Formats: sequence, structure tokens, C-alpha cells
Amino acid sequence: MNLYVDTHIHIYDEEFDRDRGESIKRAIEAGVTKMIMPGIDSTVHSAMMKCASDYPDTLFPCAGLHPTSVKQDWKKEISILEERLSKERYYGVGEAGMDGYWSKEFLSEQKEAFGIQIELASKYDLPVIIHSREATEEIFEVLDKYRNLSFKGIFHAFSGSIETYRRLLTFGDFWFGIGGVITYKNSNLPETVKQMDINRIILETDAPWLTPVPHRGSRNEASYIPHIAAKIAQVKEMEIEEVAEVTSGNAKNLFKL
Ligand SMILES: [Zn+2]
Repeated sequence: MNLYVDTHIHIYDEEFDRDRGESIKRAIEAGVTKMIMPGIDSTVHSAMMKCASDYPDTLFPCAGLHPTSVKQDWKKEISILEERLSKERYYGVGEAGMDGYWSKEFLSEQKEAFGIQIELASKYDLPVIIHSREATEEIFEVLDKYRNLSFKGIFHAFSGSIETYRRLLTFGDFWFGIGGVITYKNSNLPETVKQMDINRIILETDAPWLTPVPHRGSRNEASYIPHIAAKIAQVKEMEIEEVAEVTSGNAKNLFKL
């Protein structure tokens, strides 16, 4: 059986309140035996930690401040985050990054918060999970500043061009989270993934969002990861077994699972 890691799932979201246990069971039966939970801000933290303690061999928590949660009180959020990272075991820092889609009001604060989280990732030797939406140039500005800092990063829900992928790799040690979008009919992602190095790819659902075909339209969940692996295998002309093995190995190394 192929074993997978879902490197990005918000299983603590209320969308899973009605069937969280069942959903985790379906994932494990589909071979998705490990899942990484990115943080958002202090409001979701306790729900995430409850999931981690209920399923300690399956669900692994991260700590971070999502760009859309960067508001007036962002400095307080960052100090809570710093405190948590100094005291508890996490598997990554994030979601961090920048989002100019929902609002540009706090873009300069987002930039600062992203930089601090890169520094924290480096300090604790954890990968930083990067959310990038309509802010590519700003992301590059931040990365440029940390060119000489040693850290690992993951571009979550990557959907950029092959040129963006190549440019990002000139800035540091990055991996790319590929999810349901690769299965969408009008997506350019298959063409990009075809040219990407499989050693730089990890799988993710971003559940409850971004549901892959053939389940598009309903809530996403970790058990759908094999649909994403199958599509990658198809576009890269690889065996699905190899896709599972390589991407799971990438994820285990990155998150030290
Ligand atoms: Zn997410």
C-alpha cells in the first residue's frame, strides 16, 4: 500500500466537527497516515492542539501567524507565537507569508511578520510554511533579505509558473506543496509540475478547501491525497508508487516525522 503525508490540512476547522474521527479513519485507510496542521493565529490554537493530543501518531501541529490574520494586534500575536515556539514541540512555523488578495491594508505589517517567522524557523530549525497570494514581488523582497540565513521553506498551494519555481530556488532551500488545483481542468499547474523536480514536491490537501477532482464541490479531506498523487504520476509519467515514496520521503525529512 502507498503511504502518504498530507502536509497541509486544517482538520481542526469546524467543517470537520461532525465527522473528524471518521475522516481521519478514512485517510489512514487510504494510506494517508501522517498529516501536518498549519497554525493560523491564537484563536484556532487550542482546537489544533486538542487534535494533536487526540491523534498524536497522525496529526502534527505547527505554530504561525497567517497573513490574513495580521491586523492591528499582530505584534501581540507574534509574541504569543515566540513564547509557544520556545516552550512546546512544533513541526513547522506557519502559515506565514503574504496575501494581497483579501486586503492590502496590512501588507507592510504582513511583510514584517513574515520576516520574523523566517527568523523563528531558522532559530528552531523548522520549515516555514509560506502562503503567497497576489504578493509575489513582496515575497521576493522578503526572501532577498534572508538570502544568507539558513532555513527551509515550503510554498504551500503552489500554482506559479515554471519561471517562478526556478526563480524561487535561487533564493534558498524550498519545497512546493501540490494539491487539488493540479486536477482542475483549466489549471496550468500540470504543465509546471511536469518540469519540476519530484524531489522538491510534497502533497497537500489544504482541506477543508481546494477539493480535487472527482470530489470537487464537496468538502476536501486527507483521504483524497491519492487523487493528487495519481495526477502527478500521470503528468510526470511516473508510477504512482514512486510519487508516493518520494513525496512522503521529502515530507518526512522536512518535518522530521
Ligand atoms: Zn492553509
